[in-house]
Amino acid sequence: MSAEEIAAVRETVRRFVRTRLNPLEAAIDEADEVDETLLAGLRQEIAALGLYGFNLPESLGGPGLSVQDRVQVLEEIGRTSMPLTECFGHLPISLTLMSADQRARILPGLLDGSETITYALTEPDAGSDLNALKVKGEKVAGGWRLNGTKQFISNVETSEWIIVLATTDAGANLKGRLTTFLMRRSNPGLKNLVRYRKMGWRGYHLNGFVLEDAFIADEDVLGAPGGGFLTMMAGINHDRIFVSCRCLGIALRAQEMALDYARQRKAFGAPISEYQGIQFPLADNDVEIAAARGLIRAAAEAADAGSDEFRIAASRSKLYCSEMVNRVADRALQVFGGIGYMRDLPLERFYRDARAFKIGEGTSEMQRIQIARAALGGR
Ligand SMILES: Cc1cc2nc3c(=O)[nH]c(=O)nc-3n(C[C@H](O)[C@H](O)[C@H](O)COP(=O)(O)OP(=O)(O)OC[C@H]3O[C@@H](n4cnc5c(N)ncnc54)[C@H](O)[C@@H]3O)c2cc1C
Repeated sequence: MSAEEIAAVRETVRRFVRTRLNPLEAAIDEADEVDETLLAGLRQEIAALGLYGFNLPESLGGPGLSVQDRVQVLEEIGRTSMPLTECFGHLPISLTLMSADQRARILPGLLDGSETITYALTEPDAGSDLNALKVKGEKVAGGWRLNGTKQFISNVETSEWIIVLATTDAGANLKGRLTTFLMRRSNPGLKNLVRYRKMGWRGYHLNGFVLEDAFIADEDVLGAPGGGFLTMMAGINHDRIFVSCRCLGIALRAQEMALDYARQRKAFGAPISEYQGIQFPLADNDVEIAAARGLIRAAAEAADAGSDEFRIAASRSKLYCSEMVNRVADRALQVFGGIGYMRDLPLERFYRDARAFKIGEGTSEMQRIQIARAALGGR
């Protein structure tokens, strides 16, 4: 897309987020609930704007934006709350590994937003450490039988499809031991669906479930049997960029609010913006937001160039942006004094929502381990 075209897309998204999504956020947060028909309607509105599944390549029916163009759109999408960013259908890039039959059967519903999909990796005894995964897939006639427990999985209760990562060859190394399965939530082997109570991301639900002899047909293996680690890695760096942009979007909103408030709030006879004690945190926010944007763009450039640097660039960006948004939200809230802590304003929500980004899509510690290994030459 030309620079003008992407600027126009960006403006459309910005307007949609400001006029349709931002006004819905407070009530969703308060209720910790969101009406599924409302979300389905928003997905249809976004589809009508040609923006649903905007991150997918043309081969999967998406617009085929470069990653550098994509992050410009994502920055605008990041300016709304977690349950509402989902309405844009940032679909897993691992869907590129779908067989022709899967594309014909499953893709149309995902592309038009009538069905949604989530990714189930984490288990009670395994999150960062994939070697410890215990959900087991056993080969049986015509397919696989899955047993075990998954936890902290996004939006299972509203997704038609779940990409389940399971151990299918415990004796192999990580690159051969795991397989990814496309499973319908209605699979009779999916039991004990629970919803966790959590700190932020209200209205966006994290679920756990048990698999008891859940049968998955051979044609619903995603990628090659034993290739689950590679299937997962195909999308994870893109997901880390997505998370980075969500962090940037929240940080931008917090900083814009803090700048406005500092100009108009008076104390000791002058706007608080005249005091260095307020100027310095605003300056720190400004610098950190610019640094975050720079790291996101560097990762996007590496992705578009097909560079080996992409993996580490995505880790750098995810690590920095997820920690940055926590600092920026905290400083912005402080500029508001007491009113910042009240639920009348979204600052306290930004602060609560920011915390999860240091955990999901690979914790800060896991990013640091990858970055340090690469820096030390171990890759
Ligand atoms: C909001 C949210 C959404 C999520 N959505 C999903 C989802 O959709 N699908 C999904 O599969 N999962 C999801 N998760 C789960 C998430 O991916 C895991 O919680 C995360 O990967 C960490 O795994 P864990 O909780 O098992 O922590 P653990 O792996 O047990 O780690 C505990 C702590 O130890 C640290 N640690 C572990 N190993 C080391 C080491 N070698 N060196 C230093 N520190 C170490 C970790 O960084 C962490 O601080 C979500 C989590 C959250 C909070």
